[in-house]
Amino acid sequence: MSVLTHLLPDSSNLRLENCQLDKIKTKIYLIVSAISRVVNCPVCNQPTQKIHSRYERLLADLPWADYSITLQLRVRKFFCINSLCKQRIFTERLTNVTAPWARKTLRLAQRLSVIGLANGGAAGERLLQQWGIKVSRNTLLNLVRSIPLPPIVTPHTLGVDDFCFRKCKTYGTALIDLERSRPIALLKDALAETLAEWLKAHPGVKVVSRDRSKTYESGIRQGAPEAIQVADRFHLLQNLAETLNEVFATHYQALKAVDEIYSLSSVTQTDGTVVVRVPRPTREQQALLLAEQSRARRVAIHQQVWDLHHQGWSGKAIARQVGIGVTSVFRYLRTLTFVEPTQRRSRGRSILVPYQEYILKRWNEGCHEGLILFKEIQQQGYKGSYDTVARYTRRIRTVQEIKPRKRYSIKSLPKVTQPKKLCLTPRRAVWLVLRKPESQQPDSEELLALLTAQHPDLAEAIQLSQGFACIVRQRQPEQLDPWLTQAEMSNLTAFRRFAKRLREDYDAVKAGVTMSVSNGPVEGHINRLKMLKRQMYGRAKIDLLERRFLLAT
Ligand SMILES: [Zn+2]
Repeated sequence: MSVLTHLLPDSSNLRLENCQLDKIKTKIYLIVSAISRVVNCPVCNQPTQKIHSRYERLLADLPWADYSITLQLRVRKFFCINSLCKQRIFTERLTNVTAPWARKTLRLAQRLSVIGLANGGAAGERLLQQWGIKVSRNTLLNLVRSIPLPPIVTPHTLGVDDFCFRKCKTYGTALIDLERSRPIALLKDALAETLAEWLKAHPGVKVVSRDRSKTYESGIRQGAPEAIQVADRFHLLQNLAETLNEVFATHYQALKAVDEIYSLSSVTQTDGTVVVRVPRPTREQQALLLAEQSRARRVAIHQQVWDLHHQGWSGKAIARQVGIGVTSVFRYLRTLTFVEPTQRRSRGRSILVPYQEYILKRWNEGCHEGLILFKEIQQQGYKGSYDTVARYTRRIRTVQEIKPRKRYSIKSLPKVTQPKKLCLTPRRAVWLVLRKPESQQPDSEELLALLTAQHPDLAEAIQLSQGFACIVRQRQPEQLDPWLTQAEMSNLTAFRRFAKRLREDYDAVKAGVTMSVSNGPVEGHINRLKMLKRQMYGRAKIDLLERRFLLAT
């Protein structure tokens, strides 16, 4: 019994009277009574011993082994003996055991709220079920909601970024202390006024790092006019990537040409032998024709959408007139010139792919008999037809310029190799230019040279992008002005627009390429926030989300 007494919550104020064990329900009932002889009135604090009545409260407590615990707590009501007090009768408070009206002990509620905080409602409920604690997800979430938020320490350097609540329709704002890399607050929207209000309520922020949005710029200006605004380098590079992507997207034919040149070019290996690449299978005549027709159709629609737009038609009206979705209308309206749709990286994967390396090895050794190769790879598990193998060897013959049924010596033939699939999309081309030099692929220089040679626009875009990326990464503020001047005089609309936006936000951009402040930690926290939000399904209201975001770190 004395061991049990020690396990009670607040054992100095409670006495264990009895306990009952229900094996079938796996429940233990502990009959417990409060023992303090003198209690204080909760209103006037006057001590009293005058008992009015007794009653019983049932409280769920932490489980023991497989048994759930219920405290049958006998508590008393007292008379307040202070004649001036408005409270005549009161119930004794057991502040270390439970809250008034609660049906759980404090220690159980505290552990449940920790589980709710870490797992959310549904997952927490499932976890607790395994532990033999029955609690609904709503109870868990209510417990999380009742946890007080930590006091805010106004940071010296603040990071601001937005996140979306639902499908990028409604946005909120996350505030991060960049010195301690800790989240401070979530704001319910991404409006300038809300941010300004918060900054006014928490004066003392010296530096604010933000994305490129005008909203935050004006919010910070209103709320903390003294603070230095820093345009975050990550967002600067992201904007640059978008600009470059726009240029590449309008020069899709050039990318295709580079693709073609690259896949057909021969390589000279270190030992001087020339290796030729096996060409890709050509598309059927009819497929090419169909692709060409559907492209022409889309170009026509693009033109029509823009014509109607110039005549002042609304997006909805254009969609109805042309017979396409509203989203497509706005996609077309994003660029003045028709942008080629992104292609899939490859038209399916050939059943032969796993065996190509083997075939090429045997081929280079001198085995040019399709049937022998077919039988050899069949033994390795090839399930395809002989025709597929024959089509492949035919392509090898073409590239090696072997005439069918003629004698030849294999020594005079160039070696063959399977080309790496490239499929240069605008996005991949962007990263070819912007990837850090240390993480570049071995053939990227060759590709960049090919791109530069394709079109003067591409050459200019690549040169401008590399220049700006260097300014941002190496933090070279003195290069910013010459670069802006160059970009403003460029032939490329996308870059002129980019430079104009930088000019409008000049001070913050300059600070961004000068100061070492980085929004990197903010992005990390935003990712965690997204994870929390998804975990919470539809229940991610700001109060819950904020607690899980701020407290579970
Ligand atoms: Zn009183």
